[in-house]
Amino acid sequence: MTLTAPAAAHEAAHAPELTRAELLRTEVPGPESRRLHAERLEHVPQGVSWALPVYIESGSGAILTDVDGNRFVDLGSGIGVTTVGHADPAVVAAASAQLARLTHTLYTVTPYRGYAELAAKLAERTPGDHAKKTLFVNSGAEAVENAVKIARKHTGRRAVAVLDHAFHGRTMLTMAMNHKAAPYGTGFGPFAGDVHRVPNSYPYRDGLDGAEAAARTIAYLERRIGVGELAAVIAEPIQGEGGFIVPAEGYLPALQRWASANGVVFVADEIQSGLARTGRWFASEHFGLVPDLVLTAKGIAGGLPLAGVTGRAEIMDSALPGGLGGTFGGNPVAVAAALAVFEQIERDGLLAEAERIGATLGGLLAELARRHAVVGEVRGHGAMLAFELVEPGTKTPLAGAAQRVAAHAAQQGVLLLTAGSYDNVIRFLPTLRTDDRMLRYAVAVIDEALAGL
Ligand SMILES: *Cc1c(COP(=O)(O)O)cnc(C)c1O
Repeated sequence: MTLTAPAAAHEAAHAPELTRAELLRTEVPGPESRRLHAERLEHVPQGVSWALPVYIESGSGAILTDVDGNRFVDLGSGIGVTTVGHADPAVVAAASAQLARLTHTLYTVTPYRGYAELAAKLAERTPGDHAKKTLFVNSGAEAVENAVKIARKHTGRRAVAVLDHAFHGRTMLTMAMNHKAAPYGTGFGPFAGDVHRVPNSYPYRDGLDGAEAAARTIAYLERRIGVGELAAVIAEPIQGEGGFIVPAEGYLPALQRWASANGVVFVADEIQSGLARTGRWFASEHFGLVPDLVLTAKGIAGGLPLAGVTGRAEIMDSALPGGLGGTFGGNPVAVAAALAVFEQIERDGLLAEAERIGATLGGLLAELARRHAVVGEVRGHGAMLAFELVEPGTKTPLAGAAQRVAAHAAQQGVLLLTAGSYDNVIRFLPTLRTDDRMLRYAVAVIDEALAGL
């Protein structure tokens, strides 16, 4: 059985179909997972929640193996983190070698190799050929916070604008930037000021083309905030937690043009959509968007904690020496892993693999949508796809259905994530090592779940 072999469409095409019996050995969750879960409930607060209480022992490629020996086709990648595969051998080797050499000095005390090399890689791969510089931090939310700091220092303005259905993190500033109150913000206020939410482009629900949606957003920016006050507009090119909302053609470039004309810093939060996920290095490329600042985290270091703010050199240089940084930011082991991630994407042609996954999975999901009236829309790019569940014949979100589909899939050995401001989206963030056979199996399982709704 070649569950962990690198994805290869032709191999998968000739292999016998994957079965539940090949994946699962016990009930889900199994006895050892249940024991570990009881321990967790006693010692870990409920705010740190779980999607599926199976405890994972190891991972390889697209497959996770739990403590009871059950295997799961992982279509979530820890929310788009293990893009190059679980425990990718090249990433493990690079990180292990660095771990044995040097684990920490603090880059702002005594620097080391790797940090600037990775910054150069990001300068090369992010959209636009202008001069760029990169700051490394530990988490996506920290990257968002630093982008706001830098944009404020650069412009001398205070306000920041975010889009409806956005998600930017769980820290004090980023909580104020999220669309959803529960669970991200409820009870945690007061929130940071000078954060303004404006309408986004959501073609399935607003029916607007890119120019119309951009005009609406810009009208809000001008009337509600005023150009003279606005430091930055922050947008996810494809919104993640909001439900993989793909903006209408022309929407993002129109916002970017408006921002440039008005001295506003345009920040693309590519934390979920970036780094080969959509079949391009960055999702911005699908829209012809050249942002001033690009934020990375999740998939950048193959599972090690690392995040980046990459942007126009003159904007990035606006903070005073010592104004940016942090004890662990750009940790040498995480940086070594990230350099290996870039190498793997280039060496194994993973942009093309993301497109292959998009073609296979997108085709299978379109077929599901034809047969199940609850599937309202299938959308996304490359290996970042989703569908929205609605009451048949309407666009009313189908309450509880996404959770039920994910629960059914787990019982068949498929790990699926939900999303969406209305909790009605199934999203796919497979590793780029997921073969067509795994995708066919997963969609067959989803088909059963939809039939049983
Ligand atoms: C996950 C995410 C964040 C926050 O990243 P953390 O590393 O969890 O702090 C910010 N923006 C987007 C688009 C995300 O998907």
